[in-house]
Amino acid sequence: MIIMKFGGTSTQDATAVTNVVEIIHSRLSQHPFIVISAIAQATNLLELAGKLAASGRVGEANDTLLKLFERHYTMVDNLVHDTARHRELRAVLGSSFRELEGLVDGVSILHELTPRTLDAFYCYGELLSSRIIAAALQERHIPAEWLDSKEFMITDENFTRALPMMDLVQTRLNQVAVPFLTAGTIPVTQGFIGVTLAGRRTTMGRESSDYSASIIGAVLHAEDIQIWTDVDGILTADPQVVTSPKKIKALSFEEAYELSYFGAKVLHPNTMLPAIEKNIPIHIYNSRRPQSSGTLVTSASDSRQSLLKSVAYKRNVVVINVVPRTRFSQYMLWEHIYSILTKYDSVASMTTTSEYSSSFVMDAYPNLQAIIHELEGIGIVSVLEKKGIVCVVGTNIRQQPFLVDRIFRSVSQYGIAMISYGASKSNLSMVLDDEAVPDAVRRIHLEFFESPNDENLFEEIEHKHASA
Ligand code: ASP
Ligand code: MG
Repeated sequence: MIIMKFGGTSTQDATAVTNVVEIIHSRLSQHPFIVISAIAQATNLLELAGKLAASGRVGEANDTLLKLFERHYTMVDNLVHDTARHRELRAVLGSSFRELEGLVDGVSILHELTPRTLDAFYCYGELLSSRIIAAALQERHIPAEWLDSKEFMITDENFTRALPMMDLVQTRLNQVAVPFLTAGTIPVTQGFIGVTLAGRRTTMGRESSDYSASIIGAVLHAEDIQIWTDVDGILTADPQVVTSPKKIKALSFEEAYELSYFGAKVLHPNTMLPAIEKNIPIHIYNSRRPQSSGTLVTSASDSRQSLLKSVAYKRNVVVINVVPRTRFSQYMLWEHIYSILTKYDSVASMTTTSEYSSSFVMDAYPNLQAIIHELEGIGIVSVLEKKGIVCVVGTNIRQQPFLVDRIFRSVSQYGIAMISYGASKSNLSMVLDDEAVPDAVRRIHLEFFESPNDENLFEEIEHKHASA
């Protein structure tokens, strides 16, 4: 059995869905379990409708929904010709629209969009796209059945960033999967969304449908977790910054995790976690070029060699430095800092400590001011804003001859505010001015990736992709 997850651009219209149906058709012998995310932009538009409603702009909220639903209606009309199936899908669209209108009214009266209500908006994106795909597969005489993820994807109650309760997910999903397997039908379910024990819809964080696919794959011991997107795989750099990045043929779980954490958008970072636990390979494939070999992420890594794989970046971060007011130990200082960050649900993506003070990097969240204010209770705080992280990822990069020298020579015209090196075998990260980030990425890419590289590692791609 394999998991096939399709992202929003792979399902954005009837033509894209027809292509997806053919891809699934070509892999039927591998017993696919299908995971679908919302059609392109749907999640953003549902969020926008919720926000417009909360600011009292009911008409605009409903117009936003109407436009989104028109796209779904067009898809249904183009894809589904069986009369009963067509009528049923249009009825589902109609009732979903009315439910959303009801939500808009409620939110506009309360003038508040809570995370719980936002999730109630969000879930329609995946619920509808997955129904359309299931119907399109049936039209092609593929025995597919729509499966509501509320049957198994039980999460905690942290709306908009819920985490799966793995024991329950495991029990329920195993039960739910049996009838599908015995009947030889193909389940088509939703990524991204889950449900609390009390039956409230939740979501697991933006872009998390890759994570859903991996959770399902791990529970069901899939042979392969396939993430189908709109690029050839994981690249040596962002094609929007570097003109000729190459595709990386294979990465380790650790490298893929570091890359997605530090800004590569192809995979949600959490995707690697369930796959690591059960040691299931992840493939990234391009649904526009299904013949391309994609990128393979596995536990295998050649530990004897040093191989640089990619340069990633993260923009708009801040560096916060804290000089403690009382000279308590570093251990205590970090305990204070972390408890404040945890309270605001923030994480430090890089840290450094000297005897005198401690620094860390975090995303420029809206609650930054509140965090700074609390940190001022324990020390003198200084903040460097408008910074960015550039991060080189690879296998055993410490063994790369002249690595540090070559990296720093490449970006020597820029001031470096912070460096992190050594915590993992696979990454060196540095903080510089946000506006210097694209050029720094280009220079590092030129230094390490643009001379003829190992053909076993990289592959030239067609350079006309948008980033996923
Ligand atoms: N549709 C959701 C989002 O846009 C989840 C996903 O696509 O992974 O965030
Ligand atoms: Mg994605």
